[in-house]
Amino acid sequence: TLSDRLTSVLTNLRGKGRLSDADIDATAREIRIALLEADVALPVVRSFIQGVKERAKGAEVSQALNPAQQVIKIVNEELVGILGGETRRLDLAKTPPTVIMLAGLQGSGKTTLAGKLAKYLAGQGHTPLLVACDLQRPNAVNQLQVVGERAEVPVFAPEPGNGVGDPVEVSRRSIEEARRSQHDMVIVDTAGRLGIDEEMMRQAADIRDAVKPDEVLFVLDAMVGQDAVNTAEAFRDGVGFTGVVLTKLDGDARGGAALSVREVTGQPIMFASNGEKLEDFDVFHPDRMASRILGMGDMLTLIEQAEQAFDADQAEQAAAKLGSGQLTLEDFLEQMQAVRRMGPLQNLLGMLPGAGQMKDQLANFDEKQLDRVQAIIRGMTPAERADPKIINASRRQRIARGSGVTVSDINDLVSRFFEARKMMQQMAGQFGGFGGGGGGK
Ligand code: GDP
Ligand code: MG
Repeated sequence: TLSDRLTSVLTNLRGKGRLSDADIDATAREIRIALLEADVALPVVRSFIQGVKERAKGAEVSQALNPAQQVIKIVNEELVGILGGETRRLDLAKTPPTVIMLAGLQGSGKTTLAGKLAKYLAGQGHTPLLVACDLQRPNAVNQLQVVGERAEVPVFAPEPGNGVGDPVEVSRRSIEEARRSQHDMVIVDTAGRLGIDEEMMRQAADIRDAVKPDEVLFVLDAMVGQDAVNTAEAFRDGVGFTGVVLTKLDGDARGGAALSVREVTGQPIMFASNGEKLEDFDVFHPDRMASRILGMGDMLTLIEQAEQAFDADQAEQAAAKLGSGQLTLEDFLEQMQAVRRMGPLQNLLGMLPGAGQMKDQLANFDEKQLDRVQAIIRGMTPAERADPKIINASRRQRIARGSGVTVSDINDLVSRFFEARKMMQQMAGQFGGFGGGGGGK
């Protein structure tokens, strides 16, 4: 199985210090097999692996992960990126009703989805109307009526004997009905065929032209595997669609169809169906799908844990350093950069409890001052950063010239640094040390 193979690749690579081309190639081979086993279409596999390899080659070596884990992490991130790229919510019409049309092969789960979607939208305060435009199968209208009852959402259907036997006409009238009775959403269920055929496509296109949908959702059975690409292309060309819904994810399909359809049609996967009940429905989660395709949720959890542990380790080391008074300017610079990556300091400080008293200082806070501090520290040699005591007058002059600041700026920084370090030490003394005391005594 895949996880066995990955385990063997992992053992082969464990302990190596960095990502070599051979490591990347070996892991890529396994990933390739995994994707094919998940029924991802071959051309999609190829271009995906290519992207992953390029990224892996340029990747910085992680200290938290072994090389195989690192490649897997990259693969996972790329997958999540592609699957979730441009994820979006339903496009609502400026003037209601918003019209959502469902298209897909027979048995793909359209009618079931219509009910799920109706219930979901009603739960969000919408007032959907379900429309039965599958007049092909004898029982189809009734099926939607049952679904509508369960979802507690009204169904618009041709009544026996009222002469409407044409799904296009039904769809047109349903929009009028929605306007009249103030439904803000219309969900149009359509007929499907077991295979792609022209008549079905034409009917779907006619319904589309009649209702001018804001969204056409292509409903795809995740179990179909390699056929997904052909079907999706046929519907793209025959009707066109703006989003994808994957169904039957409660089955044992590995979900490769998701990646193929996303790549080939460029349309986002918006919802996922995972059972026959109305509740078995959710917005699409790219991360869950990625780990399903890779078939290695456990491995991904492990990777996450390893990284978190590593971060915690580093934080603890930094905290220990603070307390012991061994803080260097290098640490200072690192911390400053880490904090600044989180956004403008004003915002950050504003979120701290008790920041109210600091308001005035915050208002005067000058980010440029920080730029200057960073420039100064960057202008120092490693030895100077590690032990600021050695920064004598001639060194100060050299740093000032190099960083474009004055000697007094440097005096300022160095003396404030020593003050800060002293303060940290005192605080550490008071609170019994940073980092180690999380459990409380
Ligand atoms: P339609 O022909 O596209 O309208 O498909 P249906 O909604 O009638 O669904 C076809 C069959 O698939 C029915 O038996 C449904 O109960 C079943 N079905 C639909 N969605 C799901 C799903 O997410 N999981 C499972 N297990 N069955 C589903
Ligand atoms: Mg149906």
